[in-house]
Amino acid sequence: AKAAGRNTHAIFGSHMDELLSDRRALEADLRLALKTHSQLETFYQPVFAADTGALSSLEALARWKHPTLGDVSPDQFIPLAEETGLIHEISALVLEDACRTLAELPDIHIAVNASALELASPGYALRVLGILAKWQVQPNRLEIELTESAMTPEKSEVETTISTLRSAGVRFAIDDFGTGYSTFSRIQRIEVDRIKIDKSFIGEMHQGASKAVVSAMISMAKAKGLLVTAEGVETDEQRSALQDFGCDHLQGFLLSKPLPRSTAITLATADQRV
Ligand code: C2E
Ligand code: CA
Ligand code: CA
Ligand code: CA
Repeated sequence: AKAAGRNTHAIFGSHMDELLSDRRALEADLRLALKTHSQLETFYQPVFAADTGALSSLEALARWKHPTLGDVSPDQFIPLAEETGLIHEISALVLEDACRTLAELPDIHIAVNASALELASPGYALRVLGILAKWQVQPNRLEIELTESAMTPEKSEVETTISTLRSAGVRFAIDDFGTGYSTFSRIQRIEVDRIKIDKSFIGEMHQGASKAVVSAMISMAKAKGLLVTAEGVETDEQRSALQDFGCDHLQGFLLSKPLPRSTAITLATADQRV
């Protein structure tokens, strides 16, 4: 039994070493990508009005095409970027790209993602307003999606940032609503314009209980005057139930995957001509 234990430890230990060195290598590669202005790109996922099906906005999503590993998932490199402080540079790139796109598409809104870490950084609000001004974009055309962990009670710096940006007209959404710390009481503390129902709930809507939860979330949000987006819409059944529940906007692979900037611009331009 002793030998087996030692073995297990040895295997586990070396696996951990490998993981850690992978992480350090990935961090070095990410720094290089940022330094050389290469490999990182912003994709845009279209969001549609649930009732008319018209294109309503785009969500900007960071993409990393690694020279040897290929596409690295944001679920992998965003947490790494947060731990290493590189997130500020990544989000500046995404925001710059989003504002450039907003300047080119006068009738559309764009959403960007921000973590608590970014909102708690003192210069964040001014940086956002500076980039908007540089591209001469109305602040109310930008929406910032924040994950609920950004709303833990002690994060007062986050609240200051939100109120500064909101007074300038920037809109806010709670991302991944229903997961983690999400409760409606928290929304009352921080003013937001929208909730985005997490895709895990949408994916379970074939189950009666989950469908009822989604319906209740939409009703409660509407009662509070909030807009609602459902994310991860993949089937016609989900779409029609969400329409029946009065959900405002739909996002998901059923409607469109995230697109390269030029494709998104073509789509948005065509949609506006209809
Ligand atoms: P998120 O903000 O919840 O973004 C939605 C994610 O769901 C995207 O994954 C999108 O590609 C994916 N998605 C969209 N429709 C569907 C669908 O119908 N089914 C399924 N299964 N997935 C769908 P992505 O692009 O891999 O991004 C993952 C997460 O990484 C994002 O989740 C966001 O939290 C984070 N992220 C991405 N870009 C940025 C960024 O620029 N800044 C920050 N702070 N976070 C980012
Ligand atoms: Ca998001
Ligand atoms: Ca989300
Ligand atoms: Ca997410």
